[in-house]
Amino acid sequence: MTETLADSGVAVVDEDRLIADTLLVKRYLDRAVPPEAPSARQRAEYRDAIMGLLERRKAAIVAHYYVDAELQELAEESGGFVGDSLEMARFGRDCDAEVLVVAGVRFMGETAKILSPGKTVLMPTLEATCSLDLACPADDFSRFCDNHPEHTVVVYANTSAAVKARADWVVTSSIAVDLVDHLSAGGERILWAPDRHLGAYIQRVTGADMLLWDAACIVHEEFKARGLKDLIQVHPEAAVLAHPESPAGVLELADFVGSTTQIIRAASDLPNRQFIVATDQGIFHKLQMRAPDKEFIVAPTAGKGAECRSCASCPWMGLNSLHEMRETLENGDNEVLVDAELARQAMIPLRRMLDFGKQMAGD
Ligand code: SF4
Repeated sequence: MTETLADSGVAVVDEDRLIADTLLVKRYLDRAVPPEAPSARQRAEYRDAIMGLLERRKAAIVAHYYVDAELQELAEESGGFVGDSLEMARFGRDCDAEVLVVAGVRFMGETAKILSPGKTVLMPTLEATCSLDLACPADDFSRFCDNHPEHTVVVYANTSAAVKARADWVVTSSIAVDLVDHLSAGGERILWAPDRHLGAYIQRVTGADMLLWDAACIVHEEFKARGLKDLIQVHPEAAVLAHPESPAGVLELADFVGSTTQIIRAASDLPNRQFIVATDQGIFHKLQMRAPDKEFIVAPTAGKGAECRSCASCPWMGLNSLHEMRETLENGDNEVLVDAELARQAMIPLRRMLDFGKQMAGD
């Protein structure tokens, strides 16, 4: 394996690994067959059955903003939760439920299990993965860390338990800038993984000395600056809201850059009536709920219509369906298990993340 620094001195490029990662992501993408849309009658049946099963099993749904709108509604109606990955982790740890059903992707289920070892954690499907998690294999990552022992290792929540176990800190996009800023002010050099766009954004904002792992979110990477420029001309009054996993050119055009929860808050707080949104379309459900009188427009992507598997819509988040949710609750299938030693090690940076988040919120 070769490891070289790009001209900027921050990006780690390894052609062999990039090719292998791209192929791996494609293989998983090919397996992510979207579930069939249920009829209205089936949906009503599934909802009733899920409500009954949640009560019987003393279970709570913990859902991400990117999953199907009906699952989000069901989570909230049944006393569960919808939020970003930091909030999901907190809710799962603090709630009284004996069973957590995590509607999201695999690393979210793993995080819930690590933080709540006494609870049973189920997922509608264990096939729901993430391109960032896939493109950061624990062995390669560990070698990379070994080669740079003078750096503090900060990893994004979108990683496996094994990668988290190797880190000093875990962060979500809601606290990543603040944490790196804090570490950098203390003179620490940062090794960041896995999202190169988020890492480069943090580096630009904080000026921190950072080494970046080279992976990307297949959804956010599809947003294109050129198309966005054209769309801004068509809607000059609209504010652009972007998730920092988007490429630099898109972020430069944004009026606001932030995590999913921060984007939802900005849409309510800003005076604009129209917004162009560069993140997964699943968020539109919550955006429209919180600001019903405002208009939200999807930021342009590079894909060619139906050919694009990840244009503003995560194919793995899309695997979470009402049908799978009912099956999982009925049969206790798809339990998330994490090796005890890995969980013990990953708990350390995860606890730091939760404590830092609490400090930032002034709790
Ligand atoms: S939207 Fe991107 S970062 Fe989020 S789960 Fe999907 S592939 Fe991963």
